[in-house]
Amino acid sequence: MTSNAQHELYQQVILDHNKNPRNFKKLENPTHFAEGYNPLCGDHLFVYLNVGRDGIIHDIAFDGSGCAISKSSASMMTQSLKGKTLPEAKKLFEEFHNLVLGKLKPDTDPHHLGKLAIFSGIWQFPSRIKCATLSWHTLNGAIQKVKSVSTES
Ligand code: ZN
Repeated sequence: MTSNAQHELYQQVILDHNKNPRNFKKLENPTHFAEGYNPLCGDHLFVYLNVGRDGIIHDIAFDGSGCAISKSSASMMTQSLKGKTLPEAKKLFEEFHNLVLGKLKPDTDPHHLGKLAIFSGIWQFPSRIKCATLSWHTLNGAIQKVKSVSTES
């Protein structure tokens, strides 16, 4: 794909998920949840999980408010993680983190990111990296039972 086509796809996907975020709701009685705040941009999200005794994420949702990048990233994260185990979720978080830092090249490095690979160019915009990773840091907090996460820490 040319970088222009890649950028266009990126914009389309961000706009779509920002307008129609998937799994945008509060879960009643979640097994895990956390609040995430990105003071640089003002993004403020909540992530909710229902993890079964089998360790599988049976349901995942988010709500709150944020910029288009933070919302679309959270929306795509929930789509990617439903049905995955917690270790698989952690692995995907690592891959996504390396992707947005430009350390993982989705065209050549092995990964399980699927559609999340569209965030590959974001390392060129350092101020937006925290927007893209906020929901993932919040997820990580929820898994580790840390109720409140700030990207500043
Ligand atoms: Zn943001």
